[in-house]
Amino acid sequence: MDLKRPIQVTQSFMPPLSDVVSFLEGVWERVYLTNNGPLLLELEKRLAEKNNVHEIVSVLNGTIAIELALQALGVQGEVITTPFTFPATSTAICRTGGRPVFVDIDSRTWNIDPVAVEAAITPETQAILAVHVFSRPCDVVRLQEIADKYRLKLIYDAAHANFIQTNGRSIFDWGDCSTTSFHATKLYHTVEGGACFSPNPDTTAKIRQLRFFGYDADKNLTDIGTNAKMTEVSAAVGLANLKYLDIILAKRRALYELYREQLSGCPDLTFQQFDPEEYNYSYFPVLFKDEEQLLNVNAALNAEQIYPRRYFWPLLSDMPAFANAKILGDLHIAKNVSSRILCLPLYPDLGEEDCQKISDLVQAIC
Ligand SMILES: *Cc1c(COP(=O)(O)O)cnc(C)c1O
Repeated sequence: MDLKRPIQVTQSFMPPLSDVVSFLEGVWERVYLTNNGPLLLELEKRLAEKNNVHEIVSVLNGTIAIELALQALGVQGEVITTPFTFPATSTAICRTGGRPVFVDIDSRTWNIDPVAVEAAITPETQAILAVHVFSRPCDVVRLQEIADKYRLKLIYDAAHANFIQTNGRSIFDWGDCSTTSFHATKLYHTVEGGACFSPNPDTTAKIRQLRFFGYDADKNLTDIGTNAKMTEVSAAVGLANLKYLDIILAKRRALYELYREQLSGCPDLTFQQFDPEEYNYSYFPVLFKDEEQLLNVNAALNAEQIYPRRYFWPLLSDMPAFANAKILGDLHIAKNVSSRILCLPLYPDLGEEDCQKISDLVQAIC
């Protein structure tokens, strides 16, 4: 009997338990579990340093991070966004009183297409919500020009894009606000968790207030906030994981490059275009010739208990929950990419031999 575990698209990084326990001992001694405890403050400080930003606001998860960003910036009308993402990007728009307007993506980067964004602007438009898909930075300069020209808020769902610089600055420094996720399945995690970043201190202060029910610094309730605080237990896991960050990043990049090398003889495959220094290798997305080829590869891998994931399919514009969204144009690039894309397993504990085996199975078909 094969006792090997199935290989999923990703596997959470587990720091040595003793590392977590040593942080937790302090929590037990202090009997202080949440509300800006010392571990949380330490984690926020370290993550700001690692991301090269002045300040971060940790929150419960990456979904509520987007909701808080939208609320803090007062966005309620039409929000131009991408259909090629995880649903949370647009559920956040709807839950804060806005309406998603889906536009097409760029065929090489798979990020929102600035030309399509500009074409979708109406008097109802209030914001652009872009996603740095698989950590590939959006065209941040062009999007900022559009946002400035039409006086729109610009928000980035940077859930994939931790620890990246683009155009000489932290990726989180672009736009009015960026959000990220520290979910267990992401590159870096706090079990559940997320954060908001804004270059504007007023926005940062507002998000802090909204995270804490809506209380202002004088403990007056002046806003309809929520409870989105990260706990000391999550911060303990986050601090433990931080110790291994450089190893995690290096292993992912090495595996990504190994895959590319192994698959270099497959003429049918194409890959995301990116600058190697502006990418964190958190996913290994592959574009197949067509959906049929993708399904054949998926079946061959599943037969070996290997489970890649169709990120992102279906498109948000095809999900019943977003039936009231506006759709601009035929989204033909997004439809095409979404139907042919598969993320192959990639995580620090994936063995080189697993990577090789997966590549061989793909290569037999493509
Ligand atoms: C994971 C993810 C989210 C949601 O983050 P959670 O922490 O799971 O709530 C949002 N957007 C994108 C693009 C994601 O990949």
